[in-house]
Amino acid sequence: MSALWPEGKDFAFSIFDDTDLATLENVGPVYALLSELGFLTTKSVWPLRGEGRPRIGGATCEDEDYLAWVRELQARGFEIGLHNVAYHTSSREQTIFGLDRFRELFGHDPYTLANHAGCRESIYWGSARLSGMQRLVYDVLLRGRRKGQFEGHVESSPLFWGDICRERVKYVRNFVFGQIDTLAACPPMPYHDPTRPHVRYWFASSEGPEVRSFNAMLSEANQDRLAAAGGACIMYTHFAAGFCGPEGLDRSFRELMTRLSRLNGWFVPVHRLLDHLLETRGPLQLGRRQRARLERRWLAHKLRTRGTS
Ligand SMILES: [Zn+2]
Repeated sequence: MSALWPEGKDFAFSIFDDTDLATLENVGPVYALLSELGFLTTKSVWPLRGEGRPRIGGATCEDEDYLAWVRELQARGFEIGLHNVAYHTSSREQTIFGLDRFRELFGHDPYTLANHAGCRESIYWGSARLSGMQRLVYDVLLRGRRKGQFEGHVESSPLFWGDICRERVKYVRNFVFGQIDTLAACPPMPYHDPTRPHVRYWFASSEGPEVRSFNAMLSEANQDRLAAAGGACIMYTHFAAGFCGPEGLDRSFRELMTRLSRLNGWFVPVHRLLDHLLETRGPLQLGRRQRARLERRWLAHKLRTRGTS
């Protein structure tokens, strides 16, 4: 596996930062550290503010100072990804408008997307993430936690945008796992799932939604494990969730990231990591058995942790 990475690197590492509750104040210092340590990662945004009230909000690209900062990140080599076009549900027309706006601001369509909680146009979300028996178990055990239906992939819905997603977004996140080596947890990624045709390629992530769980996932032992395996880690987190408090950056976070930066890792944005896998291994189609295995593993993780992702 270690021959897999370019530039003689031993392993690959990236982060997808979910923009929930993010502001310039609470995530700015996090990105300053990443930049200083040589990590180029993926920061998601909402291109539009939207008209309604969000379940979970945060700064959007309609905030001038924030937008200027996000564009500066992009110029430094960070990837800007999409977290739906607004922090609440968007119609097909709004989604198209938001994607056009994204392209205007960042010069290209989004390479990566993660669905935002509470957006009903989310694509293959809720129980649509699963098939057959796994879906049944999810519906019975987790019913009530996911209110409402998600219809981004439902062709008869006014929220449908699956055709646009397939055309304009390259990678969408689905499963998250409780282990540091995302590629070991989901070997076929990035993969196409013929039963979910509106997404070109799916990717998985390692779960660390806030500072404590993020630090636990990036423990020294786990860092060494990832490096020794020659694997790839895509952390899924919310940098607004405790990484930077009134006294500045979380100390363990700073220490762990500093340690990681000294290992021989390939620290690139999510889409570059996935592009590399795609180029070296070719596009993978997910088979039925493989899909059932992934779904079962994710469901077990979800039930164990009651995670939000
Ligand atoms: Zn979110």
